[in-house]
Amino acid sequence: MLTERYGVLGWPVGHSRSPAMMQAAGLRRYQRLPVAPEAFADTVGALGALGFRGANVTIPHKEAALAVATSASDAAREIGAANTLTFGPGGAIHADNTDAPGLLAALGRAPRSALVLGAGGSARAAVWALGRAGADVSIWNRTARRARDLGARVVAEPVAAEVLVNCTSVGLDDSSSPFKDLPLTADGLLEYATVVDLVYRAGGTALIREADQRGIATVDGLEILVRQGALSFTLWTGLAAPLDTMRTAARNSRPEANVS
Ligand code: NAP
Repeated sequence: MLTERYGVLGWPVGHSRSPAMMQAAGLRRYQRLPVAPEAFADTVGALGALGFRGANVTIPHKEAALAVATSASDAAREIGAANTLTFGPGGAIHADNTDAPGLLAALGRAPRSALVLGAGGSARAAVWALGRAGADVSIWNRTARRARDLGARVVAEPVAAEVLVNCTSVGLDDSSSPFKDLPLTADGLLEYATVVDLVYRAGGTALIREADQRGIATVDGLEILVRQGALSFTLWTGLAAPLDTMRTAARNSRPEANVS
């Protein structure tokens, strides 16, 4: 199992910390798979015959990954996107989504309420996971109409909640204040028991730093990456994932950019 081939499909994918993290976990033949959107279906269709057991999927392919699969989990189907593919005999491709349970695993509990910022692919998975876990979910997005089909209450202003989850890309490019683009103030973070930022960058994000400074519990984007990767590892191998090893490898990895 551990000697089979694995990879991460993305475009670009040079920034990915998944190879370092998954190789440290024992998947020694885990590699970057840079694939342009127009080549995605053909490439994925060939991976099983080339000896690949599984692949993670990142931007911009998560919806296409679901479309090429021959079977899918409820999570992948209901979210409309897959981040984990498993290759079986006869060209079988199974699609799963570990982003959603990865968020809950990183939180360590099912919160009673949550405010999700953003309405892109990661927000869709977060809203699905939190809603399925029984949370009362509100959603804010810069472009409100994009938030309307995510199945949560759309709000124009931030509302207090147990957990705040940033699923926008704000904070990715620099560490300057996130509060000019998001409907928050630094002291407004005190309305949340836990602040989660899916974004990560070398040196950390300002959102997490501001929350830390106020004594608020935080979960950063690297922990989210580790948790979704750990669930993919277990799906492929049937083994418990070595979380501490994966966390150390992800944090120490220095890829060419700062994103997932
Ligand atoms: P996406 O589908 O492109 O969605 C981007 C979201 O960010 C949209 O809601 C967009 O709002 C919002 N946004 C972008 N610029 C903004 C600004 N200046 N002000 C306010 N809102 C802005 O991206 P995604 O796939 O959901 O990913 C979002 C972030 O999460 C990325 O940074 C990604 O790297 C990170 N991520 C991390 C992990 C992990 O494992 N840690 C996993 C997945 C994603 P509009 O609709 O108004 O454009």
